[in-house]
Amino acid sequence: MAELKQQAKTQGNLEHYWMPFSANRQFKQTPRLLASAEGMYYRDVDGRQVLDGTAGLWCCNAGHGRAEISEAVSRQIREMDYAPSFQMGHPLAFELAERLSEIAPPGMNRIFFTNSGSESVDTALKLALCYHRANGEPSRSRFIGRELGYHGVGFGGISVGGIGNNRKGFSPQLLGGIDHLPHTLDMKANAFSRGLPEHGADKAEALEGLIALHGAENIAAVIVEPMSGSAGVILPPKGYLKRLREITQKYGILLIFDEVITGFGRVGGAFASNHWDVTPDIMTTAKALNNGAIPMGAVFVQQAIHDACMQGPEAMIEFFHGYTYSGHPVAAAAALATLDIYRDEKLFERTTALAPYFEQALHSLKGLPNVIDIRNTGLVGGIQLAPSPQGVGKRGYQIFERCFWQGALVRATADIIALSPPLIVEEFQIDQLISTLADAIQTVD
Ligand code: PMP
Repeated sequence: MAELKQQAKTQGNLEHYWMPFSANRQFKQTPRLLASAEGMYYRDVDGRQVLDGTAGLWCCNAGHGRAEISEAVSRQIREMDYAPSFQMGHPLAFELAERLSEIAPPGMNRIFFTNSGSESVDTALKLALCYHRANGEPSRSRFIGRELGYHGVGFGGISVGGIGNNRKGFSPQLLGGIDHLPHTLDMKANAFSRGLPEHGADKAEALEGLIALHGAENIAAVIVEPMSGSAGVILPPKGYLKRLREITQKYGILLIFDEVITGFGRVGGAFASNHWDVTPDIMTTAKALNNGAIPMGAVFVQQAIHDACMQGPEAMIEFFHGYTYSGHPVAAAAALATLDIYRDEKLFERTTALAPYFEQALHSLKGLPNVIDIRNTGLVGGIQLAPSPQGVGKRGYQIFERCFWQGALVRATADIIALSPPLIVEEFQIDQLISTLADAIQTVD
């Protein structure tokens, strides 16, 4: 492995780029530089093939190098590179919003475009405040997130988020008026469960406690990921999301599902909301919306929320929020081409069809050294490892590194390895992913 790493060093100067969420110094000692991508595979700068077990960063659900997308992008950039997004429009943004509303959960037929998941989250939080204010309940301003939740890196997102490292360094400036529900990871009761875990729906009851404490009239919204991806594939126990929906509905609190990872077929169905049959009031998306080709996000909103915010006594009323690149024509062209692929190749159905094979393969890792839990749903899986005595996250990182140099891209979050291959994955590629991972788990001390 040492000489493989050696080869991957390139001539270029790597000093200036400050990489996000990366141990920069460590990376620059043995850089992993990807140069091209096709179908299920990346190639690094030395030409080595790497099987994509993570759809990039949960983005490339249709696989890489899709000609339909690159042609749509190049056609659009030649035709019109950019159009102002405020007080002006262009047809593709309207067409995309319509197409999205056709696959959205019931009633979520108003779409607000952003450029990322973080921006989608901030937009959703602001929309919730806007709605209550318009509805004559301006005191509803508190938010409730969840421990271990990841909602991007804006100040809103890290405030409702529940990952300590992302919050601690910025803590004096986090938004006020925020509480967190308990997370739903229970490795005692639910270890190695397949699909949604049996135990833990009662964790939703903590919401009643927070409502009793603060008063429903002061709470704007609850925001959760239907399935937490970034914290290491934490699944909703059976009945949990429905219970959150019941409680929020009872008290007039909005429910926001952050579907930045689960959107566009990851768990089966277009969205986790459709798949698990729980409809939120607001839904955030990004990533696989246009297969990761161009930065883009979209917030799906129930029409009643849109109407409350936008139908005042005068026609000039507007939502004082938006981005220079909202509904960008090139990003929209990429998204329309991506939605065509999802539809024509029935990729969301493919998730459901392949899920049992993926589950079986994933759970074959049970019994390997240090594997203390395996979790899965649709085409997403998490393997939880016991931390090494050298510290939390060391084992996970070493396994990730070993897999990469052996030709498979997996994702490590602390000591959890996450798999989320593009939805075009074939069974033999699932086998390759799992055997590379098995080898790494057994090799890394
Ligand atoms: N929400 C969730 C649930 C996410 O998983 C992510 C990214 N992993 C984000 C928000 C933030 O998205 P972005 O990095 O595009 O800002």
